[in-house]
Amino acid sequence: MTHRLSVLVQTPAHSQVAGPLSYRSELALPAGTLVRVPLGQRDMLGIVWDRLDDASGSGYDPDKTRPIAGTLDDLPPLSVHWRQLVSFAASYYQRSLGEVALAALPPQLRDLKPEQLARRLKRQSKAVPGEPQPAVAPGPVALTAEQAAVIGQIQAHPGPFLLFGATGSGKTEVYLRCVQQLLENEPDAQALVMVPEINLTPQLEARFVARFGPLFGAEAVVSLHSGMTNPQRLTSWLAAHSGAARIVLGTRMAVFASMPKLRLIVVDEEHDPSYKQQEGARYSARDLAVYRGRLEGAKVLLGSATPSLESWHHSRPETEGGRYLRLHMPSRVGGDNGLPGTAGALPLVRRVDMNHQPKHAVFSPPLLEALKARVARGEQSMVFLNRRGYAPVLHCSDCDWKSECPHCSAFRVFHKIDRTLRCHHCGFTERVPRTCPACGNPDIRPMGRGTERLEEHLAELLADVRRPDGQPVRIARIDADTTRLKGTLESQLAQVHSGEVDVLVGTQMIAKGHDFRRITLVAAVNADSALFSSDFRAPERLFSLLMQAAGRAGRDAGISAESEMWVQTFHPAHPLFEALKKHDYPAFAAQQLQEREQAGLPPFSFQALVRAEARTQAVAQGFLNAASAAAVELAEAQHVTLYPSVPMSIQRIANVERAQMLIESPSRAALQRFLAAWHDVLHATRQQPPGKGLIRWAVDVDPLTI
Ligand code: ADP
Ligand code: ZN
Ligand code: ZN
Repeated sequence: MTHRLSVLVQTPAHSQVAGPLSYRSELALPAGTLVRVPLGQRDMLGIVWDRLDDASGSGYDPDKTRPIAGTLDDLPPLSVHWRQLVSFAASYYQRSLGEVALAALPPQLRDLKPEQLARRLKRQSKAVPGEPQPAVAPGPVALTAEQAAVIGQIQAHPGPFLLFGATGSGKTEVYLRCVQQLLENEPDAQALVMVPEINLTPQLEARFVARFGPLFGAEAVVSLHSGMTNPQRLTSWLAAHSGAARIVLGTRMAVFASMPKLRLIVVDEEHDPSYKQQEGARYSARDLAVYRGRLEGAKVLLGSATPSLESWHHSRPETEGGRYLRLHMPSRVGGDNGLPGTAGALPLVRRVDMNHQPKHAVFSPPLLEALKARVARGEQSMVFLNRRGYAPVLHCSDCDWKSECPHCSAFRVFHKIDRTLRCHHCGFTERVPRTCPACGNPDIRPMGRGTERLEEHLAELLADVRRPDGQPVRIARIDADTTRLKGTLESQLAQVHSGEVDVLVGTQMIAKGHDFRRITLVAAVNADSALFSSDFRAPERLFSLLMQAAGRAGRDAGISAESEMWVQTFHPAHPLFEALKKHDYPAFAAQQLQEREQAGLPPFSFQALVRAEARTQAVAQGFLNAASAAAVELAEAQHVTLYPSVPMSIQRIANVERAQMLIESPSRAALQRFLAAWHDVLHATRQQPPGKGLIRWAVDVDPLTI
């Protein structure tokens, strides 16, 4: 008997083929089965989405419907929960189902013929499973009282949980214990642990393998992130899908891992912006994790020292409408109360009022003295600045020429090391001109400062300082420029850990997550730029970055008493710095949430952006305005506000003009209903005169930057 199947294939984001396609098959394949199907001249990977058993159904002609080309029947079908997750993500984030579903599978699966896959699986199953060796399991440490209390609550409640724990309070140990309890109690249960940065996965993987390898075999732990090769990703994915992997560690993409026995999801550093995908389907892996947990009956544990204001708001008391259970670990491991000045304490925050420092000083005299003293004592310091390169602009003082990018509305950054001007937006790179390209003046100078120049400047300032061993000071820099080559970050970090480096200079890359044991001073030399940003989330990001950075100092209980966080600012009395000084995230959050509530901003409202790109602003905005005009009634019916279109903050990149339009509603459901209905309007507008010349458009639901 012939069966009619609806099959999802990879479709371009906005193609008219949005849903599944019909195929026929002699076998009654269950939904979730991976198949190969012909499409045009090609043969591609598909997922059986539904079985439409009424082969006689209306409009169905078995002679016109093509048969599937093959079945990857060595793989169990994707679970119903996985398919529901994908369906939800596609509809919530306004993308086609085929795009989201196929992008959630490892790329190599798309190219494998059924026979190749069968061979692959045979090889993978032949790999000898590592024998558990309980004897060498590193004995888990005795839990602190706070850890024990939190773990008790996680066992007793269904969640979701927000673990609000100071940096160094031992959150990772809580994750490890929860995972261990689960895996020991349920012989086939699986856990998903997500971290924001690829950089952090090797460190975490090592910790998980050390703990769980001996208990469950080294194959029980696999990673999933975009830094892996396609074959590696396929191997991990297959292990997760078959259930052989009990623990999956990964970045945001791992939220879509096929895990048939998923029982626990951990999202570490849940506030981190990199959980939001910034292209294609712009999903939030953290939000999907919460959704997936509910769908699958898996516990969800979000953790952070500086939670996102959304999660903080969701974890208010249940009586006030909170939906997450907030768990608190205020103290650093090794300290009684975590207050500055005691063992295990959080670092003392010192604000330097730059209004009272020598003009143009990059390092204020007191900070410089503090750095020198650290070097002389053999302690490490970390200085961070959120701008890489030597100088953000090259400038001619005669004619005012600046190193603008000819293709973008942005300046090209001066990189001294290879004497180039590089655009950080489109990549356009040129040798630095000898003279001003506009007037021929040979005296063109760098304006402002990036990490490269900061490192150079610091080397001059500290030239006479000696380490305790009499050697000159050693300064290292870590940023996207120094870590371009694979493995360089690891070796640079190893140098810091081994104590070869006295002062580490870098971007926010060094402020996050790394467990530096010997750093006693952290300095933010230019923290002000975010205070007055037009982006309402800028203060939240700055506060969390500074708290994270402070968290790098004094992680060893023995040195934490003297550790300090220095902030150079022209606004020392700003409430953000007041809260930072007290390590008082709740105070900061309360103040921010109050402002947001008054202004009707998230989490008190819900937003989406439509972005449009074209050769001219007029075309990009014309498209948005036409789509908006066509949706006036729709918006009114749903109580949704449509704002006028505006140029994006970086208006032009690589000669493409960019515009956006904000859509806002007090109700998430109303915003979703509006977007679903508006989708067809946007498509139609694209086909009509206002859409002429448009390059692309896309919707960003719950955007992180406006
Ligand atoms: P967080 O993730 O909250 O910043 P970590 O989990 O990295 O903190 O813990 C900080 C340090 O404390 C780590 O070196 C960890 O090994 C150690 N640690 C965690 N829990 C304990 C404990 N119960 N006893 C002793 N040391 C602990
Ligand atoms: Zn000039
Ligand atoms: Zn450019």
